[in-house]
Amino acid sequence: MGIKADKIFYNGTIYTMDPSSRVFSAMAVSGGTILALSEQETDLMEHYCQEGHTILENLNGGVLLPGFFDTHIHAPGLAYDMLFNVNLYQALSKDETLDLIRNHVKQHPEDEIYYGRGMNSGYFDGDEMTIGPRKEHLDRISADKPIVIADFGGNYLWMNSAAFQTYGITPETTCPQGGEIPLDPKDGTLWGIVRGEARTLVPYQNFSEEQNYLAAKWFQDRMLSYGYTSVFSLRPPGTVRPRTTHFPLFEALDKKGELFLRVQGGRDMDPNGDVDEQIEIMKAERAKHNSDQIRFTTAKFFLDGSIEGLDGCLLQPYGKAAGKGDDYKGVSIWEEEKLADAFQKCLETGFQIHCHSIGDGAANKALNALEHAKKHLPEGDYRTVFTHLQLVSPADIKRMRAHDIIANVQTYWHLKSPALYHQIEKPLLGERAEKEYPLQSLFQEGIVVSASSDYPVTPDPNPFYAIEAGVTRNLYNAAAFGVKDITNMDDPLYLLNKEERVSVSDMIRAFTINGAYSGFQEQITGSLEPGKAADFIQVSADPFEINPTEIEFITVKKTYFR
Ligand SMILES: [Zn+2]
Repeated sequence: MGIKADKIFYNGTIYTMDPSSRVFSAMAVSGGTILALSEQETDLMEHYCQEGHTILENLNGGVLLPGFFDTHIHAPGLAYDMLFNVNLYQALSKDETLDLIRNHVKQHPEDEIYYGRGMNSGYFDGDEMTIGPRKEHLDRISADKPIVIADFGGNYLWMNSAAFQTYGITPETTCPQGGEIPLDPKDGTLWGIVRGEARTLVPYQNFSEEQNYLAAKWFQDRMLSYGYTSVFSLRPPGTVRPRTTHFPLFEALDKKGELFLRVQGGRDMDPNGDVDEQIEIMKAERAKHNSDQIRFTTAKFFLDGSIEGLDGCLLQPYGKAAGKGDDYKGVSIWEEEKLADAFQKCLETGFQIHCHSIGDGAANKALNALEHAKKHLPEGDYRTVFTHLQLVSPADIKRMRAHDIIANVQTYWHLKSPALYHQIEKPLLGERAEKEYPLQSLFQEGIVVSASSDYPVTPDPNPFYAIEAGVTRNLYNAAAFGVKDITNMDDPLYLLNKEERVSVSDMIRAFTINGAYSGFQEQITGSLEPGKAADFIQVSADPFEINPTEIEFITVKKTYFR
């Protein structure tokens, strides 16, 4: 007698995302593993059903998909902000931003320091839009206790005078390389922010063990409710943070038998630090965090910053609106030779590379460095990942393919964003803004594309928002942007380059099997095939069958992890 099923799901539409995109109506599962799929449930019942043991579950025409894999996220997302700090992602104006901070300070008179996150400088005027808001706004809220607010992209901290004083930062402070402490050009006083590596001057916010546990739980519940069964997580969000992901939080859950996610992650490389020392740190991390569900695998490199922060690295100069002169092309964080050396050492020691690349100059430099590094390395299955890819030159898209680079995209951003596009991206990039965020160009070249939210940079990691946006390149979740929704995907107001639209299937692959591939997990999860883990979800509607502008309304009814 062969293995019998614990459960047989039948009378459904089961999208497997296997290599031939097969669709079945029934699936048998045993011990957390998929046993078989079939178009005829009678087949499965005959072979795998054991009376008194097997549970038959009628899907009543319901739809199953593989569990989603978010391949770039910062766990625990907004947990700390939602549970303990000020969450500014919900603010839609400057006044709302300041009101939320003021109310939080009023409601927590016992706190010594106030922290928040999600501030959008697009709501401020003049120089404050590009440099960041001034400290005086926060001084009016608290003159004596420090306030530390991270912007929505996690690129800089906005602080009041009490914070600058507490952390000993003055106009004379030596700024760490890759950072900036802007001064008022008129009188040389502190402007109110610390950018990039200058954030390391501000200590990390401390949380109790209980707070950490609650945050990990909150994060996991949120991810499971969206159908994620795997995440690839980087440096936690917040103010100044440890360089590795929050593995201990997940290990605490795991010990209690409460971890229902696969968690992969890595460490941010310090461009100013010694490469060999950092490799040793990573080896120790890998040895420490190496279990069935939790694995340290990756070195992350920040090659540049962001366009709105004027530290995205471009091949051609920024527009005049940047106010930095005619030749200003942004910031390149790594020196090219050191980058090539670091790439080589990471790949030699079996670490995967994950590159933050916003500007076309960043992708170009990363490719140069990788080519250099590979001259000293054997042929290998390295699966290097470039993430964000706001601009990439067509020639470099070809080079990405040639080097089997995985493109990691956040299609949440693939529209003319009501708060960013006309205010910031168009003035800073000019015509290039029309071509930002390539997508179809990547698929067409044959590049493996994985999808992610970059949560909490994207404040709501609902995968159906991203699937819709990849398919329509247009507005979704209008309320969160504070604008009216569209009903026609060709509505021109927020439509970003419809040539770059992809299919529903492409987007779901990007969130499932391609994600698993990107994490060397494609033999274990990411598609529904016999022998693979039973990581799957039941959803409220068939994304392949509905109007693309309705995909955003799909919800996850159930998430099954093994
Ligand atoms: Zn990120």
